[in-house]
Amino acid sequence: MSIQQIRLFGDPVLTTPADEVTTFDKELRVLVQDLVDTMVDAPGAGLAAPQIGVGLRVFTYDVDDVIGHLVNPVIGVMSDEEQDGDEGCLSFPGLAFPTKRRQRVVASGFNMHGDPVTIEGSALLARCIQHEVDHLDGVLFIDRMDPEQRKLAMKAIREAEWSGLGTPAPAVKVSPHATRGLAV
Ligand SMILES: [Zn+2]
Repeated sequence: MSIQQIRLFGDPVLTTPADEVTTFDKELRVLVQDLVDTMVDAPGAGLAAPQIGVGLRVFTYDVDDVIGHLVNPVIGVMSDEEQDGDEGCLSFPGLAFPTKRRQRVVASGFNMHGDPVTIEGSALLARCIQHEVDHLDGVLFIDRMDPEQRKLAMKAIREAEWSGLGTPAPAVKVSPHATRGLAV
């Protein structure tokens, strides 16, 4: 069991597209285990390798009591139907914002042994898959918000204690959204 440090917004690894996994070896299996351990400890609904500083296309998820992972994921089908709801990110601790996502997606990729895997997700799992695949492309959830929401989010981020972006304003409290189970 190896819990890794989660990289926070501002770390360049989070905005750098990750590389395809080409070797399905012991190192990859250790990476998947580290991601699971770190995600469960946080706790979060998902975690992408760049969030622990590894630039490889791997993510894990923990949704509806199912823990899984996907290597080199590609989203194939996305429903036209959208979902709206609060979304968090372990790289933005304590913050959650309304973020539109597709309601259903199908993603294919590989497991850590190199076997082809397809995941079909709706609701939270679909949100998680879209969020994590974005991480692998160096895209963050703030990039998916409409301009007005993004402005509000950036203000809260600047005021967050963990961000080095601005002077924290102690008088302004970030609204205490419950992010347990939502942060990905
Ligand atoms: Zn995230």
